[in-house]
Amino acid sequence: MTTPTRPNTRLETDPSILNSEAEPTRPPLSTRVLARRVDEVPRSGIRRFFDILATMTDVISLGVGEPDFDTPPQVIEAGQHSLAARRTHYTSNYGTIELRRALAHHLERLYGVRYDPTEEILITVGASEALDVAIRATIDPGDEVILHEPSYVSYRPAVIFAGGIPVGVNTLLDEDFALDPAKVEAAITPRTKALLLNYPCNPTGAVLPPDVQDEIARIAVRHDLLVYSDEIYDRLIYGGYQMRTMGTLPGMRRRTVLMGGFSKAYAMTGWRIGYICAPSEILEGILKVHQYVIMSAPTVAQDAALEALKTGEPDIARMAGQYDRRRRLLVDGFNAIGLRCFEPLGAFYAFPQITSTGLSSEAFAEQLLREESVAVVPGTAFGEAGEGHVRCCYATSEAELREALVRIERFVKRRKTEA
Ligand code: PLP
Repeated sequence: MTTPTRPNTRLETDPSILNSEAEPTRPPLSTRVLARRVDEVPRSGIRRFFDILATMTDVISLGVGEPDFDTPPQVIEAGQHSLAARRTHYTSNYGTIELRRALAHHLERLYGVRYDPTEEILITVGASEALDVAIRATIDPGDEVILHEPSYVSYRPAVIFAGGIPVGVNTLLDEDFALDPAKVEAAITPRTKALLLNYPCNPTGAVLPPDVQDEIARIAVRHDLLVYSDEIYDRLIYGGYQMRTMGTLPGMRRRTVLMGGFSKAYAMTGWRIGYICAPSEILEGILKVHQYVIMSAPTVAQDAALEALKTGEPDIARMAGQYDRRRRLLVDGFNAIGLRCFEPLGAFYAFPQITSTGLSSEAFAEQLLREESVAVVPGTAFGEAGEGHVRCCYATSEAELREALVRIERFVKRRKTEA
């Protein structure tokens, strides 16, 4: 990783540091002021793209990774009742005991894994906070974290902000974007501290075949690695795939930091509730970071999440059923247009290959947006390994997906005749 060279000055000792206009020959202000680890992280590729999108109207967006459904009504009501009951105070740093108990029960029912709600479960501000505090509590400067790519935009930054070194292992279309255990093992060095897994995967929609998951677990045990398993899409799986949470595999419970959340399956992105489950010795350290930075997740949102766990199963079934239909529509549509698309068995993303158009991912996404008003995200927003693909979120209506396919086909045909 390259670090920009910069003067060894600090704001406190050099008040002129903010006066960049007066000293045009000095390095840019950001380089002088921002911490190195922040300065070296590029802006999110997704954000740049949405800046363009914000200037346009009538766009069909397959861009944002969030449900088009609203939060189920009884969950909203639970939030309203919470406020009406004046539940407007902090909760325990861990989160409400009711929510933690319900979550422990839920995970045991679904996966047969047991977490003690009093000391092995932490309620966080989304899976986003879970990721940040889990990594910051466990990574020392110079520790390496192996992650599969293309992968969720926050992973590399989260590792870098913690002083760690992200080590990418590419996954491939020809292998349905499942992680290759041999590549993981080859990436391990004496400095490797952890593996960061996200299956079902954003942006590819891939899941881990059971034999691959078993082998990854064996590698983690053999090399004594910690495993952060971001399972936020665990309930959005299709085609008969059986989800197994990482902690249930032999030797894994004591080394797994399970991260999850309510945003995707329960359509609760704006409520900002996630969680971490881990052995108490690990969770205690993570709690320390959470407690000093966050204090506790919002009370009203925790109360709503509790209702989601109690009564949200039919809602998950309804929404996942619709995602499944849309998934088939989009995947079949892409393959018919000549954009090769493997069948994603999880999350709500399709990741078609666009190399047949002769365009890079960025050029494809930008030109498609400008010419046909369809927003997709360039695969490179998820790491260089995403080149040649775009991410399309199918959490949007079937009518919009059909119209998007018509426009994409028109765009692709034009590119092919121009070539
Ligand atoms: N992890 C993955 C893989 C995601 O795709 C997302 C959101 O897109 C998150 C974590 C963050 O989710 P939350 O809304 O719970 O912070």
